[in-house]
Amino acid sequence: MSAALSLDDVKSRASALSFKGQAFIDGKYVDAQSGRTFDCVSPVDGKVIAKIAAGDKADVDRAVKAARRAFDKGDWRNQHPRDRKAKLLKFAEIIESHATELALLETLDMGKPISDSSKIDIPLVVRTIRWYAEAIDKIYDEIAPTDPKAVSLITREPLGVVAAVVPWNFPLLMASWKIGPALATGNSLILKPAEQSSLTAIRIAEFASAAGIPDGVFQVVPGLGEEAGQALGRHMDVDCVGFTGSGEVGKLFLKYAGESNMKRVGLECGGKTPHIVLADAADLDAAATAAAWGIFFNAGEVCNAGSRLLVQESIKDVFLEKVMAVGRKMRIGDPLDPKTQLGAIVDDTQMNKVLSYIDIGQKEGAELKMGGKRVKTESGGYYVEPTVFDRVQNSMRVAQEEIFGPVLSTITVKDEDEAVRIGNDTLYGLAAAVWTRDINKAFKVAKALRAGTVWVNCFDHGDITTPFGGFKQSGFGRDKSLHAMEKYTELKHTWVQLY
Ligand code: NAD
Repeated sequence: MSAALSLDDVKSRASALSFKGQAFIDGKYVDAQSGRTFDCVSPVDGKVIAKIAAGDKADVDRAVKAARRAFDKGDWRNQHPRDRKAKLLKFAEIIESHATELALLETLDMGKPISDSSKIDIPLVVRTIRWYAEAIDKIYDEIAPTDPKAVSLITREPLGVVAAVVPWNFPLLMASWKIGPALATGNSLILKPAEQSSLTAIRIAEFASAAGIPDGVFQVVPGLGEEAGQALGRHMDVDCVGFTGSGEVGKLFLKYAGESNMKRVGLECGGKTPHIVLADAADLDAAATAAAWGIFFNAGEVCNAGSRLLVQESIKDVFLEKVMAVGRKMRIGDPLDPKTQLGAIVDDTQMNKVLSYIDIGQKEGAELKMGGKRVKTESGGYYVEPTVFDRVQNSMRVAQEEIFGPVLSTITVKDEDEAVRIGNDTLYGLAAAVWTRDINKAFKVAKALRAGTVWVNCFDHGDITTPFGGFKQSGFGRDKSLHAMEKYTELKHTWVQLY
C-alpha cells in the first residue's frame, strides 16, 4: 500500500472489503458442521465485522481425514521438488498480489497500524513462503561414513499431518513461519488461527488452491482454542503440532500429546526480554529509540518485546528520559490512518489485562512515570497509552509476568554481572539485548544470557535466514531458517549392504 494514501483512501478501501468466515476443508469453503459461528469484533471501533465458523471436533476430524488422504496419495510430497517449489512460489505471488486487501484485513481484525501490516507483516509473509519454496530443491540428504561395503543413507521425511495453532499478534506472519517449512517438506497442513484474528488465514486458503496446491494439503479450521485447538492437539491422526502462543496453552499441547498419540510438538511461547543498556553504550540515543520501539511496537503485543529495561545506575535517569521522549512522540490512533504508529489492543479482554497490570505495578510500589491510561474511548476501540514504570524490582509481577501490552518496567543495575543475573532471573528465555561499546563485555554478556536470540547494540533484528525460538519456558523447536524444517520431518536411516 502506498505511503501516500490518506485516511479517507484507506477507509474507502476498507469499506469495500468483504469478509470470509468459513473453514476451508478439502479444497472448499464450508460452514462448521454444527452451523455455529462466533463474532469477529474489530478492536478499531469495537464493532462486529464478520461471523466466523466455530470449528470443533467434527470439523477437525473432517480436515484430518482429507489431510491424511492427500498425504497417503502422495500428490504433494511425491511431486518433483521443482514442481512443489513452483506451486509455493505461485502461492507467494498470489498473496503478494492481494497484499493491500490482506493488510487491511489484518488491521481491522487485530488493530495493528496499517503502515505495519502493509510494510511489515504481509511483505514478510511473502518473503517467508518464497524463501522456503526456494529451499525445496536445494537441500541434500546425507550419506554416513560407515562400512565401505555399505551405503548408509540419512534422509529426512515429512511427518504427515501437521497442525499449526497460532496467535493473534502477527496473525499471518506467525502462520507463515509454519506454512513455509511444513509445506516445503511435503506435509499436509491444517492451520488453526486465533479466534481474535481468523480473517487473513481464511482468505489465503483459496490462494493456495489457486496456486495448484492439492486439496487437503493446506486447510484452515477456525474456531475456539478449547474446541478446534484442543481437537487438533488430541487427534490420534495428527502427527505434529507447531504451536505459537502462551506458555499456559503450550503446556496443554504437551498434555494433549501425552494423552493421545505422542505427536511431535514444537512450542514458541512467551517472553520477558531483558533489554540491557550499560553506561558505556556508544550511542544512547539509538539505544533509547530501540528501547522505546522495543516495547511499544505493535502495542507491546510482541513475544520478544523488550519489556524489562535493565539500565546501569550512572545513566539511568538520563537514559529513561530519552526513552520517554521517544514514547511521547509516538502517534497513537486509528489503525487505518497511515500516520498512526500505535494502534489498538486486540480486544477488550487483553486491554483490561494490560490495565490491570498497570494497577498491579503501582500497588507493588513501582513508580508510574508515563502513560497508564486507556485512551480514545469515544472510538469504541481498545487503546492504551505507552506506559513506563521506574523503580521496578525484578521480583514484582510486572517484571516476571508477560503483560503483552505497551508497558515498560525499568530496573536499575550496578554493572553487567548484575544485569546478567537479573536478566536471567525469569522463567522465560526467548530473547535478550545488550548495549555496550566494549567488545569483550558484549560477548561475555551475550554468552551468559540464557535466551534463544541475543541482540548486541540493536534490538529485534532478524531475517528469515536466522532461527527464532526460546530457551526455558519460552518453548523449544525453532521457527525460521532451515532449522525450522527439522520440526516437520523425521530422520530416517537406510543401511544398504553391498555384496
Ligand atoms: P494463546 O495461547 O491464548 O492462543 C494461541 C493459540 O492457541 C490460539 O490459536 C488459540 O485459539 C489456541 N488455544 C487457546 N486455548 C487453547 C486450548 N485450551 N487448547 C488448544 N488450543 C488453544 O496465545 P495468544 O493470546 O493468542 O498469543 C499471545 C501469546 O503468544 C503470548 O504469550 C506471546 O508471547 C506468544 N507468542 C510467541 C511467539 C514466539 O515466536 N515465541 C510469537 C508470537 C506470540
